[in-house]
Amino acid sequence: MGIKQAPKNTPVWVDETRCKACDMCVSVCPAGVLSMRYDASSTLGAMASVVYEDSCIGCTDCELSCPDFAIFVADKKEFKFAKLTTEAKERSVAIKNNNYRIPKA
Ligand code: SF4
Ligand code: SF4
Repeated sequence: MGIKQAPKNTPVWVDETRCKACDMCVSVCPAGVLSMRYDASSTLGAMASVVYEDSCIGCTDCELSCPDFAIFVADKKEFKFAKLTTEAKERSVAIKNNNYRIPKA
């Protein structure tokens, strides 16, 4: 069963029972909010995860691009999203350039 109810005070969340680790959501996120992480139990050995939720601008690009309906964004009426910052943009590029994973410090 997928998650139907939005978790409280969360801008974006992943239904891990549906994620097929295609990397798409991470590739479209402009704010470096998402990253793939190692997960031995998942289909492709990875799982989408929310790593910088405070940077989410609520653009919904991740939700719209997910082929498996596995990632969800809060309603703009219910959550106050961040503004896109230079730091977030740079993190987004760094994650994409590192095979969709957060580079080690
Ligand atoms: S786009 Fe969907 S299926 Fe693909 S990694 Fe993201 S949450 Fe998982
Ligand atoms: S809503 Fe936009 S900023 Fe937030 S995680 Fe999804 S793609 Fe990134």
